[in-house]
Amino acid sequence: MSGPLLKVENLTKHYPLGTGFFNKAIPVVRAVEDISFSVEAGETLCIVGESGCGKSTVARLLMRLVEPTAGRVLIEGTDIAGLTKEALRDWRRRMQMVFQDPYSSLNPRLTAAQIVSEPVENFERLSGKQRQALAADLLRKVGMSPQIMHRLPSELSGGQRQRLGIARALSLQPSLIIADEAVSALDVSVQAQILNLLMDLQQEIGIAFIFISHDLSVVEHIGHRVAVMYLGRIVELAPCEALFAQPIHPYTEALIAAAPVPDPTRVRLEEPIDGEVPSPIKPPKGCAFHPRCPLVVERCRSEVPRLVLMPDGRVVACHVRAPAPDILFR
Ligand code: ADP
Repeated sequence: MSGPLLKVENLTKHYPLGTGFFNKAIPVVRAVEDISFSVEAGETLCIVGESGCGKSTVARLLMRLVEPTAGRVLIEGTDIAGLTKEALRDWRRRMQMVFQDPYSSLNPRLTAAQIVSEPVENFERLSGKQRQALAADLLRKVGMSPQIMHRLPSELSGGQRQRLGIARALSLQPSLIIADEAVSALDVSVQAQILNLLMDLQQEIGIAFIFISHDLSVVEHIGHRVAVMYLGRIVELAPCEALFAQPIHPYTEALIAAAPVPDPTRVRLEEPIDGEVPSPIKPPKGCAFHPRCPLVVERCRSEVPRLVLMPDGRVVACHVRAPAPDILFR
């Protein structure tokens, strides 16, 4: 395969609020605004940002559960907007989701074996024996004993339920898993186990992940690259190590400063970020971060900063820290 597994070009999603009345402009929620990124096969791209910044809407756009207002999603070079029903079904088979709350996303009346084999059974009939063998294999893949295959979700711990959700996502051998806040509801120690499991699975089967989280500290060890979103836009996209070692956008810097520090020898950089996230119905003019930004200059109040390619390969949208708009990110 040449080119990335997934490419997103200028993706935008506005949700209209109500219907128009006497030609009055309808207010819209600007959930996602002109974002572009790509994901290589076997790569982990993390998308981080505060609640409401548009992360889940990006996931829904990628699955084509909602239609974009503008922009394109390309899978191995093919625009998913033009896919036939059958091709879309195939794409959804190759791209699976794991959700934050495994309890509400797993059917409470099905056993573990039924839950993990259900996606396959939507495509082909399995005998009882085949289902058992498939379930045992999937449970082993996520580090669980096949002995739990007759249990209901209510008889499992939070970490076990999330493993079950991952096993279910793996059942159709996807190329990409979108994990939306997949460890946010778990205790810190269980979070680490699930993150390790995802990294092991990637090593073993070369699967790509889009890992969505509001918590930057969770993505530090799992991500190859990180896209930081603020009010619907990507403000910085960088290799994970570079981002944590030297954040460029003041919002990234503030997020890192605000993240819990698991290592007591590491000192917090600065005071956590001030102020509230503005409304995506009426975003601030210019750079949406400017009302909260300690570096704000006049230009930030009127002009939306474009993503600028930095010498180390990352892209940043900031008039102060990345002011030379000579090479634009495409
Ligand atoms: P995140 O996942 O980062 O918390 P979301 O993508 O869920 O953010 O939401 C982004 C913005 O879009 C929020 O302001 C949210 O209220 C709004 N939003 C999400 N879905 C809808 C919808 N179906 N209709 C109207 N607004 C929506």
